[in-house]
Amino acid sequence: MKKQYLIKGLKSFYSAETKPQNPDGYNIEITGNRISRIGANIQNPSAQVIDAENCVAIPGLANTHHHFYQVLTRVIPKMLDMPLFPWLVNHYNVWEGLTRDAVYWSSMAAMGELLLTGCTLTSDHHYLFPASSKNDLIDLQFKAASRLGIRFAGTRGSMSVGKTAGGLPPDSVIQTEDVILKDSTRLIEEYHDPSPDSMQKLALAPCSPFSVSEDLMKRTAKLARRHNVLLHTHLAETLDEQNYCIRRFGCRPVELMQQLDWLGDDVWFAHCVHLNPDEINLFASTGTAVAHCPSSNMRLGSGIAPVKELLAAGAVVGLAVDGSASNDSSDMLGELRQALFLQRVLKGADALSMDDVYKMGSQNGYQILGYSNGGILAENALADIAIFSLDSLDYTGIHDPAAAIIFAGNCHRAKHVIVNGKPVVKNGCLVEINESSIMTATNQIATELVRTASEKTGINYLKRDNSE
Ligand SMILES: [Zn+2]
Repeated sequence: MKKQYLIKGLKSFYSAETKPQNPDGYNIEITGNRISRIGANIQNPSAQVIDAENCVAIPGLANTHHHFYQVLTRVIPKMLDMPLFPWLVNHYNVWEGLTRDAVYWSSMAAMGELLLTGCTLTSDHHYLFPASSKNDLIDLQFKAASRLGIRFAGTRGSMSVGKTAGGLPPDSVIQTEDVILKDSTRLIEEYHDPSPDSMQKLALAPCSPFSVSEDLMKRTAKLARRHNVLLHTHLAETLDEQNYCIRRFGCRPVELMQQLDWLGDDVWFAHCVHLNPDEINLFASTGTAVAHCPSSNMRLGSGIAPVKELLAAGAVVGLAVDGSASNDSSDMLGELRQALFLQRVLKGADALSMDDVYKMGSQNGYQILGYSNGGILAENALADIAIFSLDSLDYTGIHDPAAAIIFAGNCHRAKHVIVNGKPVVKNGCLVEINESSIMTATNQIATELVRTASEKTGINYLKRDNSE
């Protein structure tokens, strides 16, 4: 007998087709790991009740790009106002000290925060493997995801071009290409579950086309396609990157990816801020998808991605919070609001609608990460659901609950979150672990990491450049 839940008393739920407005409210029934019924008068005395009085339900959100370890380096005073390249070089001095515990607890913190802000499926892009750590950092992320109960599409990141070979990262955090490919195969075999309701998937993800060799990019694509797993990397994030690419390879970043056989419906790129109209059409015609990171792009001054144009061309765009040192938050619901407003800055009030951002933040994200039946509130869809209470001053006087979740208020803490039919956030708290234990462990590691880097480099990272 499959376990059943009845989400009871919803004031409303998000639907792209209609604006649900029944005075008696709505219930959602879950059977096993699927939504079995949605409607006004559903009763089921044998189901366990989830109280959602005066709440609104939205589809579980999908975060398509992150770097969990960066939770440990949020708002470092020295790096608050730097653009991407110097920001990276300075952060590497700190990230060099990453340990296994650091990766585990920062993953717990990032995924905990994601769950609490309505995210039910997340990816992560982990590409730093300090020589001092063992080779099991991605394994630790899978362990953290399974402990919290979030659906996790991890990636095996990589860097093979260090400082001495003209790259940005120090040599101590890069790996040889043979080690990278061997470990990629191991992780696919150990963790990748291709089933439609899989709780863990794996993709391959060199850090960027500029931190590994062209040969590794090609070999990674071949390996991924042999195992039928997805490919991911950063692309076209800044003008500096575009200029660097033209200087080094004689072409723009998207052209380089085309040469490396890195376009297709099995590829998604983070950022894609600087695309020209031909590249936008190429993404649409090849099925190449984009993880749009509005907060990160604003924080680092990278620019405004052509999201409206990509959607109009028929390309798939999802949303992402990006690493916590460039956002510095893993507030997934907040990212929908940022995406909506950022496009409107240049392109007017009808640049994107609330339906556009709900779709990007949920269904498109699921599609990008390889799930065809998630990120929607519909019968037989995966039971991944986020429920927000409207009982706060922020939502007083509203007339459309689903719109209010995006437009009004900053109460981004979900009341309940269900993943794969199982409650993982109840009454605003993580079910499987006490939040304070994550905070204590993570804060301790973060303090130590920055202190060690300051001592080693002689740079006081806790001092702002412009502060006295
Ligand atoms: Zn990133």
